[in-house]
Amino acid sequence: MENIESKAVFSSEKRKISLVIPFYNEEEGIRNTFHEIEKHIGDSRYEWEIIAINDGSSDKTLEVLGDIAPSGYTISVVDLSRNFGKEAALSAGLCQATGDAIIPLDADLQDPPSLISDMIQKWEEGYDVVLAKRLDRTSDSVLKRYTAAAFYSVINKMSEVAIPENVGDFRLMDRRVVNVITSLPETRRFMKGLFAWAGFRTTTVEYVRPARAAGDTKFSGWKLWNLALEGVTSFSTIPLKIWSYIGFLVAIGAFGYGALIVIRTLIFGIDIPGYASLISILLFVSGLQMVGLGILGEYVGRIYMESKNRPPFIVRSVKSRQK
Ligand code: UDP
Ligand code: MG
Repeated sequence: MENIESKAVFSSEKRKISLVIPFYNEEEGIRNTFHEIEKHIGDSRYEWEIIAINDGSSDKTLEVLGDIAPSGYTISVVDLSRNFGKEAALSAGLCQATGDAIIPLDADLQDPPSLISDMIQKWEEGYDVVLAKRLDRTSDSVLKRYTAAAFYSVINKMSEVAIPENVGDFRLMDRRVVNVITSLPETRRFMKGLFAWAGFRTTTVEYVRPARAAGDTKFSGWKLWNLALEGVTSFSTIPLKIWSYIGFLVAIGAFGYGALIVIRTLIFGIDIPGYASLISILLFVSGLQMVGLGILGEYVGRIYMESKNRPPFIVRSVKSRQK
């Protein structure tokens, strides 16, 4: 009985929406970002919360975040002890968020806050996840477009869960979905994959991704490559398994070639041994072995790091303000 009553009280309360924004050296853009977001979080049917994560910025990001005067929402600034990377910063934000729906978005306004109301509408219709899908990639460089397309085609062939293409971390998630994500024990987190892995009733809204509002991208080619590796290794073991088949094929080839030499010797007599073919086969096969070992290493390294069980991020302080 008591339970039903408390539920009734709860349902008469406003539902809360949390925006989770990671900041890494974004001092130039912060004020403008908040200014822009404030235009879209005025709906008084909801309670609003912004979780700003300072991911170990070396500029004045933390100070500027501390100066933001919230109007009509709560702001919590989560300061991490150093730069842990966007995936970890997002995890920190999700842990801190208390909303009934949670929306991660980038600090550079590339995830347009004007989409928030459409997302909430879909959520109210009963969807647990509302993905924001990019209609085109014209705001990316040609190289990034091609490498992103290649990445999605590779990972979606190998991974058991389909990771939607042209969808970033920008999405609305119901509290139930976020509870699943935050309860996962793994410390190395490829968020896009984890979000897809969680499942739930999903729908999509579409948008055109604008260029970065201020500052430069924080993702170098090398960082993106490592993120891609992280994605593939956390969601597929095919790169490991494929070596049995490659080994099998090489063994069949070697057997066939051996048989050929025996037959040739029987028919034509003893041949002068071929140095060139010997060395090229030797190098080819040892090259293959090293690639196989390297891939094995990628996984073993990750098992090693995961087995240490270190937390994915360390929170230095959390400061909340409200008005
Ligand atoms: N970011 C972060 N930690 C990092 C790198 C990036 O928190 O180590 C944040 C960054 O401040 C931004 C978001 O992640 O809010 C996306 O970064 P960026 O816009 O540089 O990525 P891109 O849009 O170029 O892929
Ligand atoms: Mg960006």
